[in-house]
This record gives sequence, C-alpha cells and structure tokens, in this order.
Amino acid sequence: MDPVTRALAHLDTAAMETFLQHLVRTPSVYLPGVPGANEAAAADLVYEQLRAWGWTPRREEVAPGRPNVVADLRGALGGPDDPPGPLLLLEGHTDVVTPGDPAAWSDDPFSGRIVGRRLYGRGACDMKGGLAAMLFAARALQLAGAPFRGTLRLLVPVDEEGMMLGIKAMVARGEADGAAGCIVCEPEGGELCVVQKGSLRLRLISHGRIAHGAMPRQGVNALTGMVRWLHQVLDLEEALNREHPPHPLLGPNYLSPTVIRAPHPGDASQINCLPGCCDAFLDIRTVPGVEHAALVARIAALGEAVRAEHPAFRFSVETVDDRPAVAIDPAHPLARAVAAAHTRVYGAPPPLGGVPGSTDGTILARDRGIPVVVYGPGDKWLPHQPDEYVDLDEVARAARVYIIAVLEFLGGGT
Ligand SMILES: [Zn+2]
Repeated sequence: MDPVTRALAHLDTAAMETFLQHLVRTPSVYLPGVPGANEAAAADLVYEQLRAWGWTPRREEVAPGRPNVVADLRGALGGPDDPPGPLLLLEGHTDVVTPGDPAAWSDDPFSGRIVGRRLYGRGACDMKGGLAAMLFAARALQLAGAPFRGTLRLLVPVDEEGMMLGIKAMVARGEADGAAGCIVCEPEGGELCVVQKGSLRLRLISHGRIAHGAMPRQGVNALTGMVRWLHQVLDLEEALNREHPPHPLLGPNYLSPTVIRAPHPGDASQINCLPGCCDAFLDIRTVPGVEHAALVARIAALGEAVRAEHPAFRFSVETVDDRPAVAIDPAHPLARAVAAAHTRVYGAPPPLGGVPGSTDGTILARDRGIPVVVYGPGDKWLPHQPDEYVDLDEVARAARVYIIAVLEFLGGGT
C-alpha cells in the first residue's frame, strides 16, 4: 500500500465528528473582563487530545486564560546524517466570535446539533471544522508512521478574531522560523486561496477647543473639522480604485469609516458646547500593490489640505493595525501540493480564490515571509452569521486533502 492510501485509511471520521461537536459545544468567545470568557477550555480540549495521541504539545499562555497550542510531528523518512528537512505548518485558531443575539438563532448557538450532515453552532464553520480536520489529518499521518521528510507543525493560536495576539506570540517565540509554508485551514468552501486582502485600521483625530455653542468663534469645532476631513477621505476610495483596479479574486479596495466619536469618550457631551476633540476609525481593505505607508501619508495630507483653508483645525493619524495584502504564486510547490490533493479527493482541480479579510497567515507572511495558502472546509460567506454550520462530509474531504497535501509537499507521496 502506498503511503497516501495508508494514511487516508487511518483517518477516523467518526471520532473527528465527535471531537468537532465537543469543540463547538465548548464556547471560546473572548470577552475582556468577563471571567471564563476566553479560549482556555477549547485550547485544553485540543491539548488533551494531542496528549492522548501520544504527542508532546506545548501550551503557551499569551494572556491569562488564553493559551496557544503548538505540536510537532517529525517525519520518519531520512537518516540521522540527512539535513533536517522542511517545516510545514498547519494553522487553525480556537477563538470564535460572539453569537450575537441568541434569539436570531434557531437553536442554542453552542448546541453542536447535527441535522442531516450539517453540524450547527458558533464557530462550526469559522473555524472549528477546519481545526478538527487538520488535527485528525495529522493523527492519520502519525498512525501511518509519519512517512515524510521534515516536520509537520500544528499551530493552534488564540485571538485570530481580535488583534491576532496568538499568532504574533508564536512568531515571536520562533515557532514559525524557517517554515517552508503554511496551510491556513480557514473556511474557503473548497477554493484554493492564493491571495488575501490587506487590512489597515486607522484612528483619525481632530483636535479642537471647547467653547459655547452660542459663541462658536471663541473655540474650534473638532467635529466640523473631522467632517470636512472625512469628506475628502471618502473620495479617496474612488481614486484608489482607479489607481489599483479591483483584483479578479479580491474585488475592489474599500475605505470605510466605522466609528466616529465627539466629544472624545470621557469628556461630557452637551448640546451647547463645541466638542474639543473628535476621532474616527477607518477600516481599509486593500488589494496587492497598495502601499499602506503611502496611503497613511496621503490621508494625513488630505487633512493638511483642509487645514490650508481652515488653519484653526489640527489633525493627526494613528495606525491601529497594519496587515499587508499577501499572495503566493499558484505555481509555488505549496499551492501545487494542495491543488493536487484537492484534485485527487474531488476529481477536479480547485477553483482559485481570494480571502476578503486577513488571516493569521497574513502575520506569518508579513513577519517571516512564509508562503501561505488558505484552504479549509465550510462556506466562505457564512462565518459570523446566526445558524452557522459546517458540512461534515466537507470536513472529512478537507482532512483527506490535508493528508495528501502534507505527503505531497514533504516528499512522502511517492
Ligand atoms: Zn477564522
């Protein structure tokens, strides 16, 4: 029996479904300041499962109650005098977003109920289905005797839905150093995603001076300044899309104000007072080729242009988070390995896709230059909605794709 067939035979889909159901029934929404509202229980489930399989996982707390889990499976091929072989990463986060209003759900948001072949619950699609698939794929490879060269490393971070503290901590600890590639197991519905949008979050600040509403010329209305500045910023989206046209797999650039506050939180608001400070947040999504630093400078320059006409205004920009767009050549060995694996499981090559948001893979690419593809079970447009579900047969197919892709990439497939 060839190694691929042998490893596929070791995939225990029934155990995988039970584990996934347990994982979905273990809420892992992070809520700051709320005791127990974190990823600990879900991460421990992963950790204990790996230990039960005889692995020696590492559990590393990023913040209290927020542990990352990392585990290695060393390939059995190659002699003691051979070079160590490549490092391949499989990645899946434990946190899920809030279910929102439970009344919007047909059932308990954490029921894990299986109806037909669909498993329902917050996180079923994003991304506990993908996480279960990668874990059980790795288990099948272990049972098959790890017939590959190099190392398969499982990265199971916290906080992907937040500031990505989990993956950033892993990078800082060197867990991704020297990796030859990473498969991010996020739900992409069978698409092989070779490009991810960039994301830039900015805080714009308009500084004014409080005064009586009846005597506005005695002060500087920070809100008025912000409105004039934002007016210019909104026009920038169109200009940006002329300069960097919509990407075939990603669509256009977006530049969306999402929050505006005046007066500044903490300052009392009164209808007869000019606000002394106003801030606004921009959620900017970019296609490859858009230079974020240049874009920030351009937004600041728009503020200066407003100031040229109204010198009393003062503006500043803070970068809250900066994640570049990330792309891999579809001819890269990692993309080809996943494409070949998908073709073997589905009988046809995968459609190429793009990720509208960013993933933990963005951090791996940005900070360590690691080639990344995003491929995983679940409808890519379903995450964060009520009645989230994942198709269990799709989870099983994804696990098979991971098994074959790992063997293909780490040279055990033949
Ligand atoms: Zn996700």
